[in-house]
Amino acid sequence: MQKNTHIPHRGFESIKIAVAFVLSFTVIQASPVFAKESEADGLGTIYHVYNAGEYLGAVSNPEPVQTLVEEKVAAKEQDFEKLRIGASKDFTIVPEQVFEPTVKEEQTIIDALDENLELEAISFALVLDEEQTVYLSNKEDYEEVLHRIKATFVSEEEMAVWEKEREMEQLPELQPGETRILELYIAPKVSGLTKRIAPEKVMTVDEAVDYLLDEKQVEVIVKKQRKINKAIKHEKITQTSADLYVGESKVNQQGKDGNRELTYAITETNGKQSGRTEIGNDVTQEAVNEIVLNGTKPLPSVGTGVFAWPAVGGYISSEQGMRWGRMHKGIDIARPSDFTIKAADHGIVRAAGADGSFGNRVIVDHQNGYETIYAHLASIDVQPGQVVQKGSKLGIMGTTGRSTGIHLHFEISKNGVLKNPLHYISQ
Ligand SMILES: [Zn+2]
Repeated sequence: MQKNTHIPHRGFESIKIAVAFVLSFTVIQASPVFAKESEADGLGTIYHVYNAGEYLGAVSNPEPVQTLVEEKVAAKEQDFEKLRIGASKDFTIVPEQVFEPTVKEEQTIIDALDENLELEAISFALVLDEEQTVYLSNKEDYEEVLHRIKATFVSEEEMAVWEKEREMEQLPELQPGETRILELYIAPKVSGLTKRIAPEKVMTVDEAVDYLLDEKQVEVIVKKQRKINKAIKHEKITQTSADLYVGESKVNQQGKDGNRELTYAITETNGKQSGRTEIGNDVTQEAVNEIVLNGTKPLPSVGTGVFAWPAVGGYISSEQGMRWGRMHKGIDIARPSDFTIKAADHGIVRAAGADGSFGNRVIVDHQNGYETIYAHLASIDVQPGQVVQKGSKLGIMGTTGRSTGIHLHFEISKNGVLKNPLHYISQ
């Protein structure tokens, strides 16, 4: 792994900015012309040492100074494995040709350097709006910091899709239920540059991410488009129909919800929605209203002439005819599965109430010559004059009047002449 490898100083030469870095603790060579002249005159060379803008003095041999610098650099590079370190550019050794190459206090210079030599690393600065904010070991760490900050608010999957889609010239049309990232960036504007800095100021990726987010130095802005389906609710419309009887109703047209596709432009700041605008609204399916017909036709009060069984189930417990020395004028129906008594045909209630041995009884005039009688009811649900429909409820079977147990006594007559109900009804 390149980033964890110790890189020798020679490596600096491949980096433009590092050339000066290397030179900074290399003896500046005398020019060839100057050298030639010095040989001729038998001059000696001394070396002036400068550090942090301060002149420390001269030495006759630069090697101990250079060795010291190299040792300090090597020690520091052990502490900061990922960094390339060198002496500050404020440290220089300048040779001079002199007649009397004598120097003094060389050890003092070494000691001063040992104490005060400033070392610098080549870092990669993260610049926010032209202000250097944090320093990373290299460009890879810088890229990693940017990625990790984005990944705090956008999943790796979303980012991968976005990376892929931003390369595409033509994006497939967004489908309902889909969300697409159109822009993903860090604000303020981020850039990077190579920067010499004290190694101690260089942050790890984790430190830089924490600092930038915790100190609210940056925000992650995501611009998305989202398309959704939204139901268009159908309405219920009521109309009247002369084809239906009063009280009847019918669904003439089934209702159905429609659909519209809504497209939103959404902005998220640090994972929270900070803006939403509707940018598309297409009806893809119109709603169909439910139409209900309510009848207006008056109920028929004239019988059909065809009679229905006036009870719910049950059996004929007694037929019409002579019984106990008396004429039994109708039939008896007993043991029904439900005690509801029903009109045998359309008609108008002629009488409803207590009537001697009949108990509670109802008489229906079918307006066509026929009349039916329902006797011994426990209770009556209709009133005289009321129009009743074939099968509609007249009351509840009972045992009122002269009766031996719960049953319905049922008679039919036509134009006042008694008829045998069994000729008209069957179960
Ligand atoms: Zn009877």
